[in-house]
Amino acid sequence: MRVVLLGPPGAGKGTQAQLLAKELGVPQVSTGDIFRANVGEGTELGNLAKSYMDAGNLVPDEVTVAMIRDRLGAPDAAHGYLLDGFPRTVAQAQALDDFLAEMGHPLDGVLEIQVPDEAIVDRLSARRAPDGSVRDDDRPDVVRHRLTVYAQETAPVVDFYQPRQLVHPIDGVGEVNEITRRALDALATLPRD
Ligand code: AMP
Repeated sequence: MRVVLLGPPGAGKGTQAQLLAKELGVPQVSTGDIFRANVGEGTELGNLAKSYMDAGNLVPDEVTVAMIRDRLGAPDAAHGYLLDGFPRTVAQAQALDDFLAEMGHPLDGVLEIQVPDEAIVDRLSARRAPDGSVRDDDRPDVVRHRLTVYAQETAPVVDFYQPRQLVHPIDGVGEVNEITRRALDALATLPRD
Protein backbone atom coordinates (compact mmCIF):
# COMPACT_ATOMS: atom_id res chain seq x y z
CA MET A 1 0.00 0.00 0.00
CA ARG A 2 1.36 3.40 -1.05
CA VAL A 3 -0.16 6.21 0.91
CA VAL A 4 0.56 9.93 1.35
CA LEU A 5 -0.25 11.63 4.63
CA LEU A 6 -0.85 15.37 4.40
CA GLY A 7 -1.62 17.85 7.14
CA PRO A 8 -0.46 21.19 8.51
CA PRO A 9 2.33 21.44 11.10
CA GLY A 10 0.93 20.38 14.47
CA ALA A 11 -1.84 18.22 12.98
CA GLY A 12 -0.35 15.14 14.64
CA LYS A 13 0.92 13.89 11.29
CA GLY A 14 4.13 12.33 12.63
CA THR A 15 2.31 10.51 15.45
CA GLN A 16 -0.36 9.17 13.12
CA ALA A 17 2.19 8.20 10.46
CA GLN A 18 4.07 6.11 13.00
CA LEU A 19 0.94 4.34 14.24
CA LEU A 20 -0.51 3.80 10.77
CA ALA A 21 2.75 2.49 9.28
CA LYS A 22 2.93 -0.05 12.09
CA GLU A 23 -0.69 -1.13 11.54
CA LEU A 24 -0.19 -1.41 7.79
CA GLY A 25 3.20 -3.12 8.03
CA VAL A 26 4.91 -0.62 5.73
CA PRO A 27 7.81 1.75 6.46
CA GLN A 28 7.03 5.30 7.54
CA VAL A 29 9.02 7.55 5.23
CA SER A 30 9.28 10.98 6.81
CA THR A 31 11.28 13.61 4.92
CA GLY A 32 11.41 15.73 8.08
CA ASP A 33 12.93 12.80 10.04
CA ILE A 34 15.45 12.09 7.28
CA PHE A 35 16.47 15.76 7.17
CA ARG A 36 16.73 15.92 10.99
CA ALA A 37 18.88 12.75 11.06
CA ASN A 38 21.18 14.34 8.46
CA VAL A 39 21.38 17.58 10.44
CA GLY A 40 22.25 15.54 13.55
CA GLU A 41 24.99 13.66 11.71
CA GLY A 42 26.32 16.85 10.12
CA THR A 43 26.15 15.44 6.58
CA GLU A 44 26.37 17.67 3.49
CA LEU A 45 22.61 17.21 2.99
CA GLY A 46 21.97 18.09 6.64
CA ASN A 47 24.06 21.24 6.46
CA LEU A 48 22.19 22.32 3.36
CA ALA A 49 18.75 21.54 4.83
CA LYS A 50 19.34 23.15 8.22
CA SER A 51 19.08 26.80 7.21
CA TYR A 52 15.78 26.17 5.41
CA MET A 53 14.36 24.14 8.29
CA ASP A 54 15.35 26.63 10.99
CA ALA A 55 13.58 29.39 9.08
CA GLY A 56 10.46 27.24 8.56
CA ASN A 57 11.02 27.18 4.81
CA LEU A 58 10.90 24.18 2.51
CA VAL A 59 14.14 22.55 1.43
CA PRO A 60 14.44 23.00 -2.37
CA ASP A 61 12.46 20.51 -4.47
CA GLU A 62 15.43 19.06 -6.36
CA VAL A 63 17.24 18.19 -3.13
CA THR A 64 14.11 16.71 -1.53
CA VAL A 65 13.10 14.77 -4.62
CA ALA A 66 16.57 13.24 -5.06
CA MET A 67 16.53 12.17 -1.42
CA ILE A 68 13.07 10.61 -1.60
CA ARG A 69 13.81 8.74 -4.85
CA ASP A 70 16.78 7.22 -3.13
CA ARG A 71 14.74 6.25 -0.06
CA LEU A 72 11.80 4.81 -2.02
CA GLY A 73 14.19 2.73 -4.09
CA ALA A 74 15.34 0.87 -0.95
CA PRO A 75 14.26 -2.79 -0.63
CA ASP A 76 12.01 -2.20 2.39
CA ALA A 77 9.88 0.20 0.32
CA ALA A 78 9.27 -2.31 -2.48
CA HIS A 79 5.84 -3.31 -1.17
CA GLY A 80 4.61 0.03 0.01
CA TYR A 81 5.21 2.94 2.33
CA LEU A 82 3.50 5.70 4.20
CA LEU A 83 4.83 9.07 3.09
CA ASP A 84 4.88 11.56 5.95
CA GLY A 85 5.73 15.13 4.95
CA PHE A 86 6.17 14.45 1.23
CA PRO A 87 5.03 15.76 -1.24
CA ARG A 88 4.93 19.33 0.13
CA THR A 89 4.72 21.10 -3.26
CA VAL A 90 2.94 20.39 -6.54
CA ALA A 91 6.37 19.93 -8.20
CA GLN A 92 7.18 17.22 -5.63
CA ALA A 93 3.79 15.57 -6.24
CA GLN A 94 4.52 15.55 -9.97
CA ALA A 95 7.97 14.06 -9.36
CA LEU A 96 6.41 11.37 -7.17
CA ASP A 97 3.94 10.54 -9.96
CA ASP A 98 6.85 10.20 -12.41
CA PHE A 99 8.69 7.90 -10.00
CA LEU A 100 5.57 5.78 -9.40
CA ALA A 101 5.00 5.50 -13.16
CA GLU A 102 8.62 4.32 -13.63
CA MET A 103 8.11 1.73 -10.92
CA GLY A 104 4.74 0.69 -12.36
CA HIS A 105 2.87 1.27 -9.11
CA PRO A 106 0.06 3.77 -8.60
CA LEU A 107 -0.51 5.72 -5.42
CA ASP A 108 -3.33 4.11 -3.43
CA GLY A 109 -4.53 7.10 -1.48
CA VAL A 110 -3.91 10.43 0.19
CA LEU A 111 -5.03 11.09 3.75
CA GLU A 112 -5.47 14.73 4.62
CA ILE A 113 -5.52 15.31 8.37
CA GLN A 114 -7.65 18.39 9.02
CA VAL A 115 -7.20 20.45 12.17
CA PRO A 116 -8.42 24.02 12.76
CA ASP A 117 -5.68 26.64 13.29
CA GLU A 118 -6.54 27.24 16.97
CA ALA A 119 -6.07 23.54 17.79
CA ILE A 120 -2.69 23.63 16.05
CA VAL A 121 -1.44 26.40 18.29
CA ASP A 122 -2.50 24.43 21.40
CA ARG A 123 -0.79 21.30 20.18
CA LEU A 124 2.47 22.99 19.34
CA SER A 125 2.57 24.56 22.80
CA ALA A 126 2.05 21.06 24.23
CA ARG A 127 5.01 19.79 22.14
CA ARG A 128 7.24 22.02 24.29
CA ALA A 129 9.50 20.11 26.68
CA PRO A 130 8.94 20.54 30.47
CA ASP A 131 11.97 22.86 30.64
CA GLY A 132 10.29 25.13 28.11
CA SER A 133 12.63 24.22 25.25
CA VAL A 134 11.15 23.63 21.80
CA ARG A 135 12.12 22.01 18.56
CA ASP A 136 13.96 24.88 16.76
CA ASP A 137 11.24 25.18 14.15
CA ASP A 138 8.41 25.08 16.75
CA ARG A 139 9.12 28.63 17.93
CA PRO A 140 5.86 30.63 17.58
CA ASP A 141 7.15 32.97 14.86
CA VAL A 142 8.53 30.04 12.85
CA VAL A 143 5.28 28.07 13.34
CA ARG A 144 3.27 30.97 11.94
CA HIS A 145 5.57 31.04 8.93
CA ARG A 146 5.30 27.24 8.49
CA LEU A 147 1.50 27.55 8.48
CA THR A 148 1.74 30.19 5.74
CA VAL A 149 4.10 27.97 3.74
CA TYR A 150 1.63 25.10 4.18
CA ALA A 151 -1.26 27.20 2.88
CA GLN A 152 0.73 28.50 -0.09
CA GLU A 153 2.82 25.50 -1.13
CA THR A 154 1.23 22.35 0.29
CA ALA A 155 -2.54 22.98 0.25
CA PRO A 156 -2.39 23.00 -3.60
CA VAL A 157 -1.10 19.40 -3.42
CA VAL A 158 -4.59 18.40 -2.20
CA ASP A 159 -6.07 20.03 -5.32
CA PHE A 160 -3.48 18.20 -7.44
CA TYR A 161 -4.77 14.80 -6.25
CA GLN A 162 -8.45 15.77 -6.05
CA PRO A 163 -9.41 15.01 -9.70
CA ARG A 164 -8.25 11.42 -9.22
CA GLN A 165 -10.42 11.15 -6.11
CA LEU A 166 -7.45 9.98 -4.09
CA VAL A 167 -7.96 12.37 -1.17
CA HIS A 168 -9.63 11.23 2.06
CA PRO A 169 -10.11 14.00 4.61
CA ILE A 170 -9.57 12.84 8.19
CA ASP A 171 -10.90 14.80 11.15
CA GLY A 172 -7.73 15.35 13.16
CA VAL A 173 -9.44 16.56 16.34
CA GLY A 174 -9.85 14.00 19.10
CA GLU A 175 -7.95 11.25 20.87
CA VAL A 176 -4.89 9.88 19.08
CA ASN A 177 -6.36 6.36 18.81
CA GLU A 178 -9.66 7.68 17.54
CA ILE A 179 -7.89 9.57 14.73
CA THR A 180 -5.86 6.46 13.84
CA ARG A 181 -9.15 4.52 13.64
CA ARG A 182 -10.66 7.13 11.27
CA ALA A 183 -7.57 6.90 9.06
CA LEU A 184 -7.65 3.08 9.02
CA ASP A 185 -11.36 3.13 8.18
CA ALA A 186 -10.62 5.44 5.24
CA LEU A 187 -7.76 3.20 4.08
CA ALA A 188 -10.00 0.14 4.29
CA THR A 189 -12.22 1.66 1.57
CA LEU A 190 -9.35 1.98 -0.94
CA PRO A 191 -9.20 -0.37 -3.89
CA ARG A 192 -6.01 -2.50 -3.66
CA ASP A 193 -3.85 -3.53 -6.64
P1 AMP B 1 8.31 18.07 9.32
O1 AMP B 1 8.97 17.25 10.38
O2 AMP B 1 7.59 17.22 8.29
O3 AMP B 1 7.44 19.16 9.88
O4 AMP B 1 9.49 18.79 8.50
C1 AMP B 1 10.38 19.67 9.15
C2 AMP B 1 11.05 20.57 8.11
O5 AMP B 1 11.81 19.77 7.19
C3 AMP B 1 10.10 21.39 7.25
O6 AMP B 1 9.67 22.58 7.86
C4 AMP B 1 10.98 21.66 6.02
O7 AMP B 1 11.95 22.64 6.30
C5 AMP B 1 11.72 20.33 5.88
N1 AMP B 1 10.95 19.40 5.02
C6 AMP B 1 10.34 18.25 5.42
N2 AMP B 1 9.73 17.66 4.39
C7 AMP B 1 9.95 18.46 3.30
C8 AMP B 1 9.57 18.40 1.93
N3 AMP B 1 8.82 17.41 1.43
N4 AMP B 1 9.99 19.41 1.11
C9 AMP B 1 10.75 20.41 1.58
N5 AMP B 1 11.12 20.53 2.85
C10 AMP B 1 10.74 19.57 3.72
